[in-house]
Amino acid sequence: LEPTGPPDRTFKIVLAGDAAVGKSCFIFRFCKGVFHKNLGSTLGVDFQVKTIRVDNRNVTLQLWDTAGQERFRSMTKAYFRRADGVMLLYDVTNEKSFLNVRQWIQGIEEVTERAVPITLCGNKLDLRNESRAQGISCVDTSQGRKLAEENKAIFMETSSKTGDNILEAVLALSYEMLMQE
Ligand code: GDP
Repeated sequence: LEPTGPPDRTFKIVLAGDAAVGKSCFIFRFCKGVFHKNLGSTLGVDFQVKTIRVDNRNVTLQLWDTAGQERFRSMTKAYFRRADGVMLLYDVTNEKSFLNVRQWIQGIEEVTERAVPITLCGNKLDLRNESRAQGISCVDTSQGRKLAEENKAIFMETSSKTGDNILEAVLALSYEMLMQE
């Protein structure tokens, strides 16, 4: 259901995670409803906006992309400082991106004054079986869930390509942000 009327709440969600895990595609899929394979830096703006209905409220979400910035350069820090929630992505077909999640969480905790809700997303779920068949070692659901639990984060496995769990991931984070009020 598309919300009507003015927003009751506006939240800033910052997308985090290594380069190429799919942050830009995630934002595009959620805000525009389609997969755009080669976004590059074509988004052109810092964030995209979408209003959804959560818990009988119209919640306007600004999804901020940190593409093109190296980890925790000053610009990125400023983004995280103002975040109401963080969508932290890794690529399930790229173990390195999963191993770097801890560093991302540490960095986020360092710059934010209060605990910010985090949703951990194992993205590119659509590629896991195929990648495994090719001998690429992938990140299991159980590994992702365990890491999320250790860090009190919500856990989802998503695909910006198929759209699997994209809305669910954003909804789960939105509920957490509403609880922080
Ligand atoms: P970012 O650097 O984290 O913003 O990553 P991008 O959104 O630019 O995506 C990097 C690459 O991964 C692009 O080639 C995308 O087409 C691809 N990609 C992103 N998400 C998915 C996904 O869920 N499934 C598949 N198969 N490819 C994806």
